[in-house]
Amino acid sequence: MAKRVVIIGGVAAGPKIAAKLRRLDHEVEITIIEKGQFLSYAGCGLPYYICEDIKEQRELMETPVGVLRDPEFFEKTKNVKVYNRTEAIKVDRLKKEVEVKNLDTNQIKTLPYDYLVFATGAKVMIPPIKAVDIEHPGMELGCMDLSHVYTLHGIEDAEAIRWIIKEKMAKKAVIIGGGLIGMEMTESLVKSGLSVTVIEMLPEILPILDDDLGILVRRYCQEKGVNVRVEEKILRLEGEGGIVKKVVTDKDVYDTDAVIIATGFRPNSDLAKKSGLEIGETGGIKVDLFMRTSDPFIYAAGDCVEIENLVCLKSAYMPMGSLANKQGRAVAINIAGGQEVFRGGLNSVVFKLFDYTVSRTGLGIKQAKDLGFDAEYALVPAPDKAHYYPGAKRVITKIIVDKRNGKLLGGQFVGAGDIMKSANTVATALYYGGTIEDLSMLDIPYAPPYASAIDNVCVAANVIRNKLNRSMIGISALEVEKKRKRNEDFILLDVRTPKEYQQVRIPGSTLIPLGNLKQKLDELPREKEIITFCAVSLRGYEALLILKSNGFGNVKVMDGGLACWPYELEK
Ligand SMILES: Cc1cc2nc3c(=O)[nH]c(=O)nc-3n(C[C@H](O)[C@H](O)[C@H](O)COP(=O)(O)OP(=O)(O)OC[C@H]3O[C@@H](n4cnc5c(N)ncnc54)[C@H](O)[C@@H]3O)c2cc1C
Repeated sequence: MAKRVVIIGGVAAGPKIAAKLRRLDHEVEITIIEKGQFLSYAGCGLPYYICEDIKEQRELMETPVGVLRDPEFFEKTKNVKVYNRTEAIKVDRLKKEVEVKNLDTNQIKTLPYDYLVFATGAKVMIPPIKAVDIEHPGMELGCMDLSHVYTLHGIEDAEAIRWIIKEKMAKKAVIIGGGLIGMEMTESLVKSGLSVTVIEMLPEILPILDDDLGILVRRYCQEKGVNVRVEEKILRLEGEGGIVKKVVTDKDVYDTDAVIIATGFRPNSDLAKKSGLEIGETGGIKVDLFMRTSDPFIYAAGDCVEIENLVCLKSAYMPMGSLANKQGRAVAINIAGGQEVFRGGLNSVVFKLFDYTVSRTGLGIKQAKDLGFDAEYALVPAPDKAHYYPGAKRVITKIIVDKRNGKLLGGQFVGAGDIMKSANTVATALYYGGTIEDLSMLDIPYAPPYASAIDNVCVAANVIRNKLNRSMIGISALEVEKKRKRNEDFILLDVRTPKEYQQVRIPGSTLIPLGNLKQKLDELPREKEIITFCAVSLRGYEALLILKSNGFGNVKVMDGGLACWPYELEK
């Protein structure tokens, strides 16, 4: 008898498993159970569908040659049986059966399996925010009880947000949560013509980045007209006639036509837990290297599983489509009798924010230090191609390394130019356990239209090597600002040219152009802390070397120079 494989979940991991398994085994009986209406759609494309960069819903569900991936497609082309609008409600592991319920007819059916797969994805986290309706003041409501309050996970959510924009002519929106989805939605709604406020409870948006880059992205969004608020707590939503009208925080009140809740996801492992499968510390289903759960006849893949972070070797939750597909492939190969290993992830992400691209792989400096690493970093603003080549745009490259053995820990990349080369290079080096020396000497292809002769990641590696051999001591702009606020006695030494200084400068900074520094050493007090900088802190580093070789003992360079300074400037 042919093997029977039942897959619960039909968006990314589920269909990937079905398609790969069919290629490996023509006999196996494959069934997908999907609670929702739609199958195998591009969830990652939803923000672009909302702002109509992607015009038609079906484009999210088409193959590259324009064939719609609906149940008929799966049955006819892949020989995969699909039950959509059907929920798996119970698993009997002894009998190897799944009980499923048709959500339109309430009919219950039992499906036997030889192998079962959980590809049940993630659940949106809804914060415990209260709501009041001025027409029913005594009623206790949660934030989702008011209309025009949305989350974004599936196509239905995207349709509802499109509806409020197009049909209800929404003009203002408040996004609760400044993480990746919140910021993708920011661009989408601004592009749709809405005035957008983002409210983040933490001190900085984008917890995927270190704060020194998060603040630069926040400033950029503010320049784009987005009202981004941090360290602000939502107290309640206020509605009228059941429709949200205001968002009340501990600092302000915002009139709004819509609220998007983007406060994160958690693994949808409820049914797995109910079935007695082992659940990990992150709430995801525990799997081994072969994506097998604690039951050898049950596999799991995608946003419902817990995996290993390959940098710190700790359990982690990484709900990304890129990983869901790789895990799905491994599950299919292993059900077909193979031995495919999925080692874990690097937490690599990238997203578009207006003209910026933002990416992260591995650990940030704060996360690394919190995990006990003795970590160092470099922050390098530089053009994405040869500086003299037309169209070169500035990008910021940050590399994080373990001081004890020089091993790479992570990279973060932000800017209007091409950052993906660097992000991919660092992710690759991380995956192979690379060191800062490896990165520094990596033979990266170069020609002026694409890169600089020494690629940005190699420059960043060299900056870290300078820091590790103590020829350079850095300090972040955030630390410099804290010193200024505490009125500490130090010299912020700008070593740019008088012309550059005239155009823009940090209030209170002292100008001594690099070319004049040797002649003006006597003007600088030797006992004071001196922090040098220039446009990007290359001349700042050269100034530090001059000062140190002339007996100045307490000198630092401001990492990234003026390009990474997010605070007030004088013009
Ligand atoms: C707006 C947005 C943008 C994103 N952008 C990116 C990106 O740029 N890059 C990236 O890598 N990732 C991105 N992601 C994440 C990516 O979409 C997910 O990682 C991916 O969809 C996970 O696939 P999955 O199959 O594990 O889970 P899901 O896509 O969540 O699918 C799981 C399915 O299982 C079904 N299900 C659950 N329980 C049952 C049950 N009991 N019975 C029947 N069916 C059930 C659910 O209805 C759901 O449809 C984005 C996500 C969102 C929401």
